[in-house]
Amino acid sequence: MAEPYQHYIDGEWVSGDGSETFESENPATGETLAEFERGSPSDIDQAITVAEAAYEEWRELSRIERAEYLWDVYQELRDRTDELGEIVTKECGKEISEGKADVVEAAHMVEWAAGDARHPSGDIIPSEIAAKDAYMRRKPRGVTGCITPWNFPIAIPYWHMAVALVEGNTVVFKPAEQTPWCAQIIAEMFDDAGIPPGVFNMVQGFGDAGNAIVEDDRVPTVLFTGSAEVGHKIAGKLGDVSGRRVACEMGGKNAVVITEEADLDIAVHSAVMSSFKTTGQRCVSAERLIVHTDIYDEFKDRFVEIASNVAVGDPLDEETFMGPLIEAEHAEKVARYNELAREEGVNILVDRTELDAAEIPDGHENGHWIGPFVYEADPDADLRCISEEVFGPHVALLEYDGDIERAVEIQNDTPYGLAGAIVSEDYRQINYYRDHAELGLAYGNLPCIGAEVQLPFGGVKKSGNGYPSAREIIEAVTDRTAWTLNNS
Ligand code: NAD
Repeated sequence: MAEPYQHYIDGEWVSGDGSETFESENPATGETLAEFERGSPSDIDQAITVAEAAYEEWRELSRIERAEYLWDVYQELRDRTDELGEIVTKECGKEISEGKADVVEAAHMVEWAAGDARHPSGDIIPSEIAAKDAYMRRKPRGVTGCITPWNFPIAIPYWHMAVALVEGNTVVFKPAEQTPWCAQIIAEMFDDAGIPPGVFNMVQGFGDAGNAIVEDDRVPTVLFTGSAEVGHKIAGKLGDVSGRRVACEMGGKNAVVITEEADLDIAVHSAVMSSFKTTGQRCVSAERLIVHTDIYDEFKDRFVEIASNVAVGDPLDEETFMGPLIEAEHAEKVARYNELAREEGVNILVDRTELDAAEIPDGHENGHWIGPFVYEADPDADLRCISEEVFGPHVALLEYDGDIERAVEIQNDTPYGLAGAIVSEDYRQINYYRDHAELGLAYGNLPCIGAEVQLPFGGVKKSGNGYPSAREIIEAVTDRTAWTLNNS
């Protein structure tokens, strides 16, 4: 049996306290991929200690010098896109095109951050006094804790870390416990790039390791992406007045609004992609379809037909549209929500919670398979199934009558505000939605899917706290100083 993979601390592969290990699993087959050391709070403590020490020299380099290490990482992401995309797919079950897209998005983010190193930083600001020069200058904040989810296991860590590093912070990275192999590759890339010891550190592990970052006052900044449940817990611990800061990107209960002016082909395509792509396990996936009464029946027939027949398959197969859920525990959670919807009295249209053996691809019997679950509900009903994020192919059809104002009222009737889409050929409706839907990301006549690193990406309300784009992550990982100089 191979030795378990280790943590990466102070430029070395180390076992940490080495008392426990865990395994990474292929969710499509149930096969064990590799074994990893499970990081403890004392391993995090060690990583923070070395990251704090390394910060003193790292911050003295120019931004352009720091970015040089990132360019090496960028090149590796580009050269190895296909190979790494396959690893993403094997470890997190995304369809292979999505596995590769994860790596490409990571490359875009690293390119953005490293390229930004040559752009101006700070501002020259006018002063009321002629002989005074005034500037806004940025300073790094120190050790940045990066706590990331499993569903974009290469892209999101780089989304956090590339900007933090270029701005002069050091990093302690605690990846998701479901995707340690992807995290191992990220650490190998920084090692290959020769990043100075202690600047980038990775401790594999679970929530207790993440919590040890959050609890440690030596970490002024935490960049977190994951569930609202965990994010709100973290935000509660990092009080606003302590000088510590957390940027949280969390989940949603996203919706596609389909008005009476929609092109039905576009509507069906948007709904199917938004609800079932990556088996509903994207933060932007839509679990609510808000459909105007005039086209409701026709839309429902077409959507239900697809939901009843869409096949699950081996995610490594280019033809596969829907892969597995990430792990047994998550499949159980999705099944429980399907059951909850039944108990809450909704009208069930498609229930493929339990797939027939014949529907499961050969050799994949131990994967975590769940098919679409589709139901109709009253948009005004107080139901948990239409309010809480399920993170699976669990979809409510909500019929509405009236104008776009009514559709947007339903769209906004959620504590979340991450993403949403509208399908309509009427520009008044589209403009109303654009201006009034409470969302960080809004898509018009498109699926509710997609991120580009130069655009904001992040939610409002319970879905995020305002650091949604690469440029805003700069705000999270730097302090601004007003610097004034007497020039007389
Ligand atoms: P999760 O919240 O369970 O875990 C995220 C990370 O937090 C993991 O690394 C986990 O180990 C760590 N963690 C767990 N408990 C912790 C604690 N008490 N203290 C510190 N760290 C802790 O999320 P997940 O299941 O990995 O990912 C799915 C969720 O992420 C969904 O809700 C999805 O919507 C959200 N998400 C949001 C975005 C976005 O950009 N808005 C992107 C991707 C995923």
